[in-house]
Amino acid sequence: MVSQTTELLKKELPLEQELVVLPEDVVTGLVLVDIINGFCTVGAGNLAPREPNRQISGMINESARLARLFCDKKLPVMAFLDSHHPDKPEHPYPSHCIAGTDESNLVPALRWIENETNVTIRRKECYDGYLGSMEVDGSNVFVDWVKNNQIEAILVVGVCTDICVLDFVCSTISARNRGFLAPLKDVTVYSRACATFDVPLQIARNTKGVLAHPQELMHHVGLYMAKERGAKIVNEVSFGAPK
Ligand SMILES: [Zn+2]
Repeated sequence: MVSQTTELLKKELPLEQELVVLPEDVVTGLVLVDIINGFCTVGAGNLAPREPNRQISGMINESARLARLFCDKKLPVMAFLDSHHPDKPEHPYPSHCIAGTDESNLVPALRWIENETNVTIRRKECYDGYLGSMEVDGSNVFVDWVKNNQIEAILVVGVCTDICVLDFVCSTISARNRGFLAPLKDVTVYSRACATFDVPLQIARNTKGVLAHPQELMHHVGLYMAKERGAKIVNEVSFGAPK
């Protein structure tokens, strides 16, 4: 149920969404953020949904559909997988997605992309996929992916809209604006292939150390904040004629 408060806040923070047509002659890269069991598969861990969730299953379906389209066209795809060392917690969240466990693996609907030659998998141990792509020598796997593939636009999808998706978008846009990511121009977030988790206020109040996180509201705020940084927010994606 969408609360009256959410409806009111959506009126205060109106988010007009566009439709994007990806031109066939421009290299667009697909970025899949944390579409892994520990965040998306019912019962898979401390941060996994407790019961089936419409926003999350819609996100998985749309992401898998896009991944298939990008792989058929041999366009570059990058997948970030949250994977933590057991001794390095990520506050304020409980232990999650420990490297080597199935929690940190892609959901069943996307597991097949591991065998595709156009897909780059990056395990990261922080929220932000841009920073999580940095190697100890200062190189950056994501920056190299953009440059090596001459990517001019990226389409970002995954979880959580207001956490890892947003952090990645913010860093990427700042890096692009500083000239680190040429030839990247457009950063687009596809709202129907993004999702976040649900902790209603009533539950948070009764659970020590848990922040309230109403799903519809935080998903909306995440998209809104990405738009504030200069990302394009779209609710429809198609491939089209050359520019
Ligand atoms: Zn994490």
